[in-house]
Amino acid sequence: MTRAGPLVDSHGRILRDLRVSVTDRCNFRCLYCLPETEAAQNFYRGHWAHLPNPAPIVQQWVPRSELLSFEEIERVVRLATSLGIRKIRLTGGEPLLRHEVESLVARLAGIPGIEDLAMTTNGFLFPPKARALRDAGLRRVSFSLDSLDPVNFKKITGRDGLATVLESIRLAQELGFHPVKVNAVVIREINDHELESLAEFARVRALSLRFIEFMPLDSARAWQKDMVLSGREILRRLQARFPLRPIAADHASATAKRWAFADGPGEIGIIAPVSEPFCGHCNRIRLTADGKVRTCLFSVTEHDLRPLLRNGNSDADLGEWLRGVVWQKEARHHIGEPDFVAPPRSMSCIGG
Ligand code: SAM
Ligand code: SF4
Repeated sequence: MTRAGPLVDSHGRILRDLRVSVTDRCNFRCLYCLPETEAAQNFYRGHWAHLPNPAPIVQQWVPRSELLSFEEIERVVRLATSLGIRKIRLTGGEPLLRHEVESLVARLAGIPGIEDLAMTTNGFLFPPKARALRDAGLRRVSFSLDSLDPVNFKKITGRDGLATVLESIRLAQELGFHPVKVNAVVIREINDHELESLAEFARVRALSLRFIEFMPLDSARAWQKDMVLSGREILRRLQARFPLRPIAADHASATAKRWAFADGPGEIGIIAPVSEPFCGHCNRIRLTADGKVRTCLFSVTEHDLRPLLRNGNSDADLGEWLRGVVWQKEARHHIGEPDFVAPPRSMSCIGG
């Protein structure tokens, strides 16, 4: 393990990206993440009902006393930045549910060394917060949007929220957030028929749209490989409809392969962690809302930072501890292999 320089793991990967979950709670119930019981059962009953699945995760919210405070999050981010982290993304659960999250943004925006501060949100609570977030120093925002059809949107998210999310995207562009990204998880027979219309939406509205393969991180444990529309399949369909021009990756750790529309603004990206894993270049770690450091989305082990933060340890002690944790970062995930074990918490708790 190294004792100086940037955070590095035992496979030689330098860590630059920290995702901070500020809450495990959410106001949506997306089928692929945190489905409500009935929706989850419908999901099971469909085309894949005959396939065996592990038992669903029983969702237990983290008690509020166990959530990291803004002071604690700021301390971890300062420390991580001093060790070479350059990108911070606030996520959840739904980050806008965390009371006065804009004051956390303001604390983080002032930390020297952060080159990129962003947030991922479902957008439902964005309109009244948008100006405050921008004033606090947030520059980049990604919205989740898996459907442009109000009925399908409700089926997927469990909420009647399409109009509000569309308004959030418009407002973010109007306020000068840049780039405004949109994430769409594509699930066969759930929303794959909307691929082209979502891409057209990105083209017309000059958005950066990311299609994401469905990963086995849903609390219902309904995931099956057959439900995943592979990145290759997504690309083939889009190329059949739109003239696309590849965009070179900015850096090796980029997760999305990107294409510009040859005949208009906007771009699409495809994130294919299941069919084309990019673990070899992964430069991310995660901090959960209850202060656990995760070295991989699919980690089955979490490293508990909260007691160290609350027991009077120095920054030097914490830095040493973090180096040790990062060193253990998994080489890769094992999705689709016989030895794959899904993490014990869903994406909403891990922080996507
Ligand atoms: N609630 C916010 C939102 O939905 O944007 C932030 C948290 S959410 C967990 C972050 C991202 O994870 C979202 O873009 C969501 O679509 C994605 N996600 C959640 N579960 C997923 C799954 N099983 N497979 C792929 N992506 C998933
Ligand atoms: Fe909530 Fe985001 Fe998960 Fe949907 S994807 S349930 S909005 S945390």
